[in-house]
Amino acid sequence: MNQNHFWETKPLSAMTRGEWESLCDGCGRCCLMKLEDENTGRIYYTNIACRLLDCQACRCTDYANRMKRVRDCLKLTPKRATEYGWLPHSCAYRRLAEGRGLAWWHPLVSGDPETVHTAGVSVRGRVGAREREVPRKEYEEHVVDWPLREPKAKRRKRRRGG
Ligand code: SF4
Ligand code: SF4
Repeated sequence: MNQNHFWETKPLSAMTRGEWESLCDGCGRCCLMKLEDENTGRIYYTNIACRLLDCQACRCTDYANRMKRVRDCLKLTPKRATEYGWLPHSCAYRRLAEGRGLAWWHPLVSGDPETVHTAGVSVRGRVGAREREVPRKEYEEHVVDWPLREPKAKRRKRRRGG
């Protein structure tokens, strides 16, 4: 086991602030507007982006003040790990909370911040509208299922011949 891979050796609750923040892969999926079925509690993702999301970089444009500026932006903390069911399956925090480790396309694993985009995990190029452009009553028309899917396992190149 690589000792620099802190996410393989430390529980979420023991991570430093820097380690915790570095776990975010920058996919932007959690910054899409969501609908919750009142009867079942099921979460539906839309392709509508929060007004503070930079849809190209897939990062919050005012991360430090996000809680003040966006009333329902939720802060992720280790203590709330059991509540991570609303996050996409691909989310690093949810994956670790469920004991699934980080995926191959996570920048900490690949060493390349672009793999989250090239693997099709991020919202880059997939946002259909901005929050302020769509009335709440029309959110249902923007429900999509791709934020709940994970990309397939990385294909390995195989040598020809024997
Ligand atoms: S879904 Fe998880 S990994 Fe992706 S941006 Fe949100 S917190 Fe970060
Ligand atoms: S305020 Fe920032 S972190 Fe919160 S949902 Fe919006 S873009 Fe994402």
